[in-house]
Amino acid sequence: MNEKRDRCGNTPCSWCDRDDWTCRFCLGSGWWRPEKPHRDNSGGLTWARVEEPCRMCGNTGKEHDPLPGSAPTSHR
Ligand SMILES: [Zn+2]
Ligand SMILES: [Zn+2]
Repeated sequence: MNEKRDRCGNTPCSWCDRDDWTCRFCLGSGWWRPEKPHRDNSGGLTWARVEEPCRMCGNTGKEHDPLPGSAPTSHR
């Protein structure tokens, strides 16, 4: 059971004010599950799946601050 936060902690935050933009990285869950390298007892390298709060949206599940330059620009 994982909870997500209503606000990312920045106030005011225009991203938290929106409800119509789901975080692309966690798909709105506020959590993501990356795989991280993990060395087991015999020295072998395996991948362990970890669960952590989504950093891209501050655990809110709402899109925050898309990467600069990712917004489409038009020159017409
Ligand atoms: Zn926010
Ligand atoms: Zn997210």
